Amino acid sequence: MRLSWNLGRVAGIDLFLHPSALLVYFLVAGAMPDMLGTIALGAALLGSIVLHELGHALMARRYGIRTADITLYLFGGVARLERMPRSAGPELLITLAGPAVNFAIVLVLSAVIGLAELIGLSLPVIVPMVLSMNLVLGVFNLLPIFPMDGGRVLRALLSGWMGRVRATEVAALLGRVLAVVGGTIFLLNGMFLQLILPLFVFVAASMELRQVQAEGRPGGFTNVPPPPAGFRWASGGDGVLRLVPIMVHVQSGRDRSWG
Ligand SMILES: [Zn+2]
Repeated sequence: MRLSWNLGRVAGIDLFLHPSALLVYFLVAGAMPDMLGTIALGAALLGSIVLHELGHALMARRYGIRTADITLYLFGGVARLERMPRSAGPELLITLAGPAVNFAIVLVLSAVIGLAELIGLSLPVIVPMVLSMNLVLGVFNLLPIFPMDGGRVLRALLSGWMGRVRATEVAALLGRVLAVVGGTIFLLNGMFLQLILPLFVFVAASMELRQVQAEGRPGGFTNVPPPPAGFRWASGGDGVLRLVPIMVHVQSGRDRSWG
């Protein structure tokens, strides 16, 4: 049984709300003068996160990758893609599509605010707040650490010249170092509740690394050119493919099997 509530379907993708996402109320409390305003701002934050995740999901769809569902948690949303492309180009575009949605919202709201000023219309106070919220969401997600989108961008950029496994190791190491630094700062300042975030980053970075290292074993490779005749690709388990000769067994001069 899953703990989340189904909010319905958006663009053919099931949308779930985890109870922890309701704590978003306390995250934005104080920014608005009354309770109704706080609820509206909290809903706008969750809505912005849904649009961010839809950015990932719809870009993935362009590459034929379906999204099982999108779930909202306190620390953001998770779009469960059926699989991640193993080549860097599509992964880069799918990853960037999320923050791009937030920056698009910033641009649209900037235009709306500018236009309202031009014609002397006073907008509700929530409009500039949603703008800055999306700016923070876009920038924060581009931090070059797992599980942020920026960690995937860094990995995609690095994997072009050092390979996916090595690139993940670098991005995961950076994520863990930043998590330890952030955790120490929170600890020294007595921000114990906020310690969950660096802890989450540390665990997610380690999990991503283990998953990619497992994919680096034989069978996990895609986009490999066909081997020359008489050879096959083999992996030593270190993420590097080597050409090895195919064993040709000749049995009684007529029956051949290829190993
Ligand atoms: Zn994202």
